[in-house]
Amino acid sequence: MKSFATSLIILCMSFTPLVAKQQRAHKVFQVSTFSALLNGVYDGEFKVKRLREFGDFGLGIVNNLDGELIAVQGEYYHIDPKGYLKPAKARLLTPFASVCFFEPQKTFMVRNIKDINALQETLEDKFYNVNVPYAFRIDGTFPRIKLRSLKPQSKPFIKFAEAVKDQYVFELENVKGSLVAFWYPMYLSGINVPILHMHFASEDRKRGGHVLNIELNTATVKMMELNNIEIQLPSTRSFAKADLEGDHTHTIKRVESRN
Ligand code: ZN
Repeated sequence: MKSFATSLIILCMSFTPLVAKQQRAHKVFQVSTFSALLNGVYDGEFKVKRLREFGDFGLGIVNNLDGELIAVQGEYYHIDPKGYLKPAKARLLTPFASVCFFEPQKTFMVRNIKDINALQETLEDKFYNVNVPYAFRIDGTFPRIKLRSLKPQSKPFIKFAEAVKDQYVFELENVKGSLVAFWYPMYLSGINVPILHMHFASEDRKRGGHVLNIELNTATVKMMELNNIEIQLPSTRSFAKADLEGDHTHTIKRVESRN
């Protein structure tokens, strides 16, 4: 006969996956804040290896702006400054990233979207709660997609609005692939990129980048509402000394311009 202690251990073990799943459900984990990125905090201390513990899906930036990150279907990719993907090394550092365990609640089709603003409106039409963030995975064929990747910077770092002037912008045509997107309400704009922030990975996982604009014919959208935000605030000197006060609205409009 099992002892009481053994029974208790078995009982606890059987509940552990359920508890873990409840804890991670609808939670977005992010490294640092958008206001820190805007202010030139590019030397993060958080490794891709640790990001995996918090999500199988997401996007971010690589330290020193040496390209971007995308995570889709549990695979993390480093998008280099020319828009080519390679598996992200476990030791790669990020100064800013958002990830979640993607468990969509809604799936729907979208058709004949002429640009990123039209896509945004179509997605927002599906919201029940307009004051929480959302995660989206959008798979389809894109007649045209305009992307950027960042160029590496060295210290002393210039502000993000200056750094993106030197970004590498390119277009892909008639490409199949996946968009990884987060939508945040405007009131959280110092915390994360407000409204729609998307990264792209082609179906062959060779090309990608931060999305500036898109056209799409037909795509499947999977959507998850996020009710819980966990933020890992850096302990680096550059974060400690950054001036994060103030209204970033004008800067955000400049760095996220959709041309
Ligand atoms: Zn981005």
